[in-house]
Amino acid sequence: MTSSNRKVRLRFAPSPTGSLHIGGARTALFNWAYARRHGGRFILRIEDTDRERSTPEHEAAVLEGMRWLGIDWDEGPDVGGDFGPYRQTERFDSYAELAERMVADGTAYRAFDSTEEIQAMRETWMHSGQKPVYQGRDLDPEESARRAESDPFVLRFRVPEGTTRFTDMIRGEVSFDNGEVDDWVMVRSDGTPTYNFVVVCDDTSMEISHVMRGEEHLTNTPKQVLLYEALGLEPPSFGHFPLILGKDKKKLSKRTGDTAVQSYREKGYPPEAVLNFLCLQGWALDDKTEIFSVQDLIGHFDPADVSKGGSIFDPEKFLWLAGEYVRASEVGDLAERCLPYVVAAGLATEADLRERRDWFERAVATEQERIRLYADLPARIAYLFARDGEVVYDPQAEKNARKHADRLDTLKDYLAWLEPHLQAGSPAEEVRARTRDWVGERGLKFPQLFQPLRCALTGAAGGPDLFDVMELLGPQAVRKRLQAAAERLA
Ligand code: GLU
Repeated sequence: MTSSNRKVRLRFAPSPTGSLHIGGARTALFNWAYARRHGGRFILRIEDTDRERSTPEHEAAVLEGMRWLGIDWDEGPDVGGDFGPYRQTERFDSYAELAERMVADGTAYRAFDSTEEIQAMRETWMHSGQKPVYQGRDLDPEESARRAESDPFVLRFRVPEGTTRFTDMIRGEVSFDNGEVDDWVMVRSDGTPTYNFVVVCDDTSMEISHVMRGEEHLTNTPKQVLLYEALGLEPPSFGHFPLILGKDKKKLSKRTGDTAVQSYREKGYPPEAVLNFLCLQGWALDDKTEIFSVQDLIGHFDPADVSKGGSIFDPEKFLWLAGEYVRASEVGDLAERCLPYVVAAGLATEADLRERRDWFERAVATEQERIRLYADLPARIAYLFARDGEVVYDPQAEKNARKHADRLDTLKDYLAWLEPHLQAGSPAEEVRARTRDWVGERGLKFPQLFQPLRCALTGAAGGPDLFDVMELLGPQAVRKRLQAAAERLA
């Protein structure tokens, strides 16, 4: 296996055929953490050889997802002082050169089977119950070279007999009978190289020491190990992460949970919560800690501790985790992160919120305990931005207010009593304490004032402390909202 003096170099090699997937992000994170833990390097390589399905938009989405999560890479072509990713389509020449060498030394050969012949082979496999393993029909080198002048061909890897073994960092010893491995296609008839071939070319030339990827690649690994052996090269260490499963124990799909990192970003999940949640997909810091940072991951990550069985993606737990991060945030930081969501909801402009930064932070603070996602905030503070006569009364809030026959008198008298405090700008604590006295002196029960008052000021049945709300609204809005309620709750 890998010798201990090999430099630690890992890579994440996404195919840009969609945005960054939760499973891909976990692969990136674990590879990155391993590189960081061992003072190694982490490389991003875009595997864009599938030209029909790869798009620059998907590539941009993958990069953006990684940047949002803070998973940075250490090498790549210079793009304006920053590292761009490596792209396989920019490296075709190096693959062609190696393919030629392999034909020359006999580790690969040209196969001229027509589509019909391949189809017939498939049918035989199906009807005879044989394993679908290509039976090499390889020509002598001279004839092969001659036919290559006129006939289309693919290049196939010549799989030797025997058994292929490797030590998987997660699963331990793995072995495959070579009889089960096809003489697989390295280069298609149109000259484009296939995944198993280019991945080895790139991992070799990039001196990758550890390849950790999803379990779906486990059947590719013997093909790759054999290729390293044919090239006389030492393979990297391999590790295969368990699948991420939905709650139905099937491979995570859009049906069982959103699979795109981007959609969690849009929903307002804190990136730290996303990272933490990704860590929990197959790894744990210990047997009890659920909330921890990427620094903890870097400090402790060992692929041997990754579970072999599939991990269950639990959306409720993810949401809970998001809420924990939101609650633990410093309020200034939380306000900054919520700001774009408030702007996107059309409540205020960015300039307005920045100008009233202190006020906005106080508004965020009133909801910090209640929201779980940044995107939860706008709906909860929309009342602060409403026109005073048009606060939306939630039916439950209105019902609560209307339960009290004396509501209009109570609100009217309360406003009269409150007026000097509004004018003097009395602090919330003082108004709170005095209001309690006022309620007591009038022989009222608290809900008799607070339910109509909450409906009038916020339109909601529940929510933050009403005296904090009054301070945020300011005297003018409080006055107008109470006056409007005199009619609206009549
Ligand atoms: N491009 C492959 C994928 O996205 C990566 C495979 C690998 O890591 O070797 O699944």
